[in-house]
Amino acid sequence: MKKDVVIIGGGIAGLTTAKFLAEEGVDFILVEEHTDFFQKACGEGIIPKIGKYDFFEDLYESKIGIEREIDETIVHTRYGDLILPFHFVTTNKKLVEQELFKQVKKKGGEVLMGSKVRSIEGDPPTILPQGIKAKVVVGTDGVRSVVRKWMGINEPSLGFAVEGRAEKIPFDTCRVEVGKDVIPYGYAWFFPKREEWNIGIGAFEKGYKRYFSRKFDSFRRRFPEVKKWRGAFLPLSKPTKTYGKRSILVGDAASQIISSIGAGNTTSAICGKIAAEVLIKFARRDFREMDLSLYEKRWKAELGKLFSLANSLARLFFVIYGLSEYLSIKFLKRMIEKYA
Ligand SMILES: Cc1cc2nc3c(=O)[nH]c(=O)nc-3n(C[C@H](O)[C@H](O)[C@H](O)COP(=O)(O)OP(=O)(O)OC[C@H]3O[C@@H](n4cnc5c(N)ncnc54)[C@H](O)[C@@H]3O)c2cc1C
Repeated sequence: MKKDVVIIGGGIAGLTTAKFLAEEGVDFILVEEHTDFFQKACGEGIIPKIGKYDFFEDLYESKIGIEREIDETIVHTRYGDLILPFHFVTTNKKLVEQELFKQVKKKGGEVLMGSKVRSIEGDPPTILPQGIKAKVVVGTDGVRSVVRKWMGINEPSLGFAVEGRAEKIPFDTCRVEVGKDVIPYGYAWFFPKREEWNIGIGAFEKGYKRYFSRKFDSFRRRFPEVKKWRGAFLPLSKPTKTYGKRSILVGDAASQIISSIGAGNTTSAICGKIAAEVLIKFARRDFREMDLSLYEKRWKAELGKLFSLANSLARLFFVIYGLSEYLSIKFLKRMIEKYA
């Protein structure tokens, strides 16, 4: 089979890219390894506005799956609680991804579910074992991307997090817990949904390698009613290089995440839309004289500063944390006052 564009991975990045390509009638196929959506752990929080984009109006174009609007989060520390006045939305992410999939299908996009890509070979590239030849490959295959590996780009530095669903929680507001009694170099979250809570704990590389199993054990014991915990890696560094001669990376595959807080849903969707716009432009010229560096220029212009600032703040926070937890909380308070 021959396709102009092959998108590998049907998460929020891949589905958003697919939806905008489908709208313009670009010849593509999206290949997803699972037979259903939302198979990877996530806190299900979505930041509705980043830069000029409104997630629900410009990217997702639906309200399906919205659970709760959050305006304030309590940041619990051993030196007292801080209030984070930050607007985000909790969602049922499975419904969000299913709805995006419906939009892709409705606009005539082709999706192959339950088909894992194992490798990519040749020039022009062939996706294996599916045997699909592509003019462009879009890697939206998450943190352990096979596309990124094929492009010869190094893995970003990783964090690790675990989430579960709880019906009852001993608090009644959205909450984050920070500090070494919770997990060094990380945090725990308690996000209220309509009838349950998405709760979890995660840490940057320094934290998960040394402390995760012990700290997760204590966390799990606090919530014995949670039946199922799901863990996943997430990229927690600045974005990687995101283009090659015939390939681009979008979302977690490219580390397009606000790494200080591990939020990648909205940024992945924004970069998916930008990727689609760039591909549509080249599709109109039948991919002749294609220069995919345009994609990187475009997302850097929109989100480059945000990614860099988030990464620098996280690094600085952890340097201070290494010296004194007390000072790191004072720093966090200042950052909340300045940026939230
Ligand atoms: C525990 C946890 C909590 C988080 N909480 C939040 C949060 O509350 N808010 C937020 O904004 N962000 C959060 N994030 C980050 C967010 O989940 C990601 O940034 C976002 O999901 C990235 O979307 P994506 O489409 O790039 O990748 P993914 O969601 O990982 O999707 C990749 C897709 O590719 C498929 N795939 C992978 N390899 C292959 C292959 N070889 N062949 C075919 N298909 C393949 C996968 O099955 C998957 O469907 C969290 C992350 C974790 C781990």
